[in-house]
Amino acid sequence: MMELKFDNSNPGKDVSSSDLNTNLRMVSSVKSDHCVKVESVCFSQGKTIVIAGPNLVESQDLILEIAKSVKSSGAQMLRGGAFKPLTFPYRSSKYFETGEKGLKWLRDAGQTYGLPVVSEATGEENLELVAEHVSMIQIGARNMQNYILLKKAASYQKPILLKRGLGSSLRDFLGAAEYILHEGNDQVVLCERGVVVPHTHRSTSRYLLDLQIIPAVKEITNLPIITDPSHATFWAPWVPSMALASVAAGANGVMLEVHPNPSVAAVDPLQPLDLNQASSLISEISKLSQFLK
Ligand code: PEP
Ligand code: MN
Repeated sequence: MMELKFDNSNPGKDVSSSDLNTNLRMVSSVKSDHCVKVESVCFSQGKTIVIAGPNLVESQDLILEIAKSVKSSGAQMLRGGAFKPLTFPYRSSKYFETGEKGLKWLRDAGQTYGLPVVSEATGEENLELVAEHVSMIQIGARNMQNYILLKKAASYQKPILLKRGLGSSLRDFLGAAEYILHEGNDQVVLCERGVVVPHTHRSTSRYLLDLQIIPAVKEITNLPIITDPSHATFWAPWVPSMALASVAAGANGVMLEVHPNPSVAAVDPLQPLDLNQASSLISEISKLSQFLK
């Protein structure tokens, strides 16, 4: 009978010491001074970068208003979806993808206010268009293990924001990053955006922000890791504490959803901060990161 070898240090979910030399050889060899350069912004150890913007680039006016405000509040990058993954196949009349138009509005708002932009490619069908317009390509949680998309996205030689799958292990998360590095692109920022686990905090809170992933990632790699407390909490009142907790836990940045009038946001109206709330939080983040230096 064939003897099955079982590595006791690796019960299947955790990163084993042998992974570091094999499966995660590139991710685990990233140098401590590694910088993921997104135009003038550098994500690296010891830095705290704030990315802010709406869930969906709903209109040109909206993105210009938000860009102007978050720039003056101290954010370093602008986000906004033009293509959106939807949990259900039904779109309300409010919910529409702005596609190429949205990408242009985002890019132009970023250029007007000196903010590099990030937006999600939801599939191979829009990857090229997204890559053409953005400074950084976002791979969403639902696509973290879409290896064809990861490899193609890597080939554009643009930085990539890789969001953690809704319930993926650390090993799977880093394995996805390894795919990108293996394609010759080491410009990867990891993003914890909450995982699905049973909890009873609030019926509207869909995910739990896993702060422990931050020190866990840092034991293995020098790739920067940020969090997205907006998607994780799904509830704006919880975003400031979770954003600050992320920074305290060592995150190299946070991504915040911001909307001038959250209650009318086309997508996920419970989670964005309004412009004033975003401004106060960004200044608290900056104070906290100074304090921690
Ligand atoms: C987003 O950032 O807009 C998004 C859809 O994120 P996630 O993939 O984490 O759900
Ligand atoms: Mn979203």
